[in-house]
Amino acid sequence: MNTTETLQHADAPVVIVGTGLAGYTVAREWRKLDADTPLIIISRDDGRFYSKPALSNALALKKAPSQLASFDAQAMAAQLRASVWTQRHVQRIVPDEHALVLDDGETLRYRALVLATGADARRVPIDGDAANDVLSVNDLTDYERFRDKLRDCRSVAILGAGLIGCEFANDLVSAGHAVSLIDPAEVPLSRLLPPEAGKVFGRALKAATIDLRLGVSLRSITHGERGYRLQLSDGAQLDADVVVSAIGLAPRTALARDAGLNVADGIVTDAWCRTSAPDIYALGDCAAIEGRVRPYVLAIMHAARALAQCLSGNPTRVDFPVMPVVIKTPAVPAVVVTPDGLGRWKTETGIGDAPHATRALFEDADTGHVKGFALLDAATAEKAALLKAMTSG
Ligand SMILES: Cc1cc2nc3c(=O)[nH]c(=O)nc-3n(C[C@H](O)[C@H](O)[C@H](O)COP(=O)(O)OP(=O)(O)OC[C@H]3O[C@@H](n4cnc5c(N)ncnc54)[C@H](O)[C@@H]3O)c2cc1C
Repeated sequence: MNTTETLQHADAPVVIVGTGLAGYTVAREWRKLDADTPLIIISRDDGRFYSKPALSNALALKKAPSQLASFDAQAMAAQLRASVWTQRHVQRIVPDEHALVLDDGETLRYRALVLATGADARRVPIDGDAANDVLSVNDLTDYERFRDKLRDCRSVAILGAGLIGCEFANDLVSAGHAVSLIDPAEVPLSRLLPPEAGKVFGRALKAATIDLRLGVSLRSITHGERGYRLQLSDGAQLDADVVVSAIGLAPRTALARDAGLNVADGIVTDAWCRTSAPDIYALGDCAAIEGRVRPYVLAIMHAARALAQCLSGNPTRVDFPVMPVVIKTPAVPAVVVTPDGLGRWKTETGIGDAPHATRALFEDADTGHVKGFALLDAATAEKAALLKAMTSG
């Protein structure tokens, strides 16, 4: 790079791609440290600031989609002293030129670029003439479409009994819908809970009238007389007015990959959110920070604070603390800290004679220290004490 190019970079704005929690939070944190450097935030959506976690409990809280958005793009631009470009798609990054190219061909130079592009709802091929009607709910626009469909609908089938599928199932039954929840695993939340706790969680969902179909997958979906007919792998058939897929997320990495950046499960960064290209950073659902994608709010807040320091010339490691994941299922509240390393789960169910109260502790194979936990129902009250014990021990 020659001196002229360096000067051009120094004059260029900081550019953030994405107006989700990651993009807006890093902007907010950085503005606390640097009030003046020009900032452009680009989004392919309308740039409204909303709480994505609220999408899966908004029915029970009787919140209309419009109430979930707290500020529009204009208000965010004013708050952040930024230009917010909405409905603009970044098509290409040219790292050698510190530039990106938008869908209308405009080229924009950056001094630093932050990729906060989120993740796409994962899709798997499904047979049947209604396969394309399966919805996914991963942003506010998806959610508005979903709420429209729910208006004349009684029954909903959900594919995937992970965190998001279980939360939607609970929210929908609370709002009076009949819900079937389908998953190939033998227990719900199979990636978060140890099996015994998963069984208890499943019993609680059944008690809340959720029709749980476990150990089966969807074979096909066709148009029925009124809604849809689902054929399951165990030979059973189900009818539903609306079908939602909640089978997981795939980090949006295409921009980074096409630009030659290192990509694995997500856009690869070190502990400073730095990608493999100079002055390009990543965080949020699109990023694998130090080898791991952490698609949760708390992780994004921590990464945003550290990245803001890096952007203002004070390189700072992201040190993730122990971060519990709260599952918003009022039928059986749950909180989990997923463990790393080798060890074993010790699970106690029916605590204090409450049928669903469960405490599962993951003990390290060498030291016996608690390295993770899963708490259900009344046992969730033990969260603070366990976190304290984990962080002080
Ligand atoms: C239903 C649901 C419930 C959840 N509940 C919880 C919870 O209870 N607790 C928790 O911790 N986490 C929860 N999560 C996860 C959490 O909400 C996400 O981790 C977080 O919101 C992701 O933010 P993000 O900014 O990384 O991505 P997103 O919010 O997806 O933002 C990505 C942005 O990038 C933009 N973009 C992408 N590509 C381009 C491009 N090429 N050009 C321009 N713009 C582009 C998009 O328009 C968008 O603005 C939940 C998620 C869902 C879906």
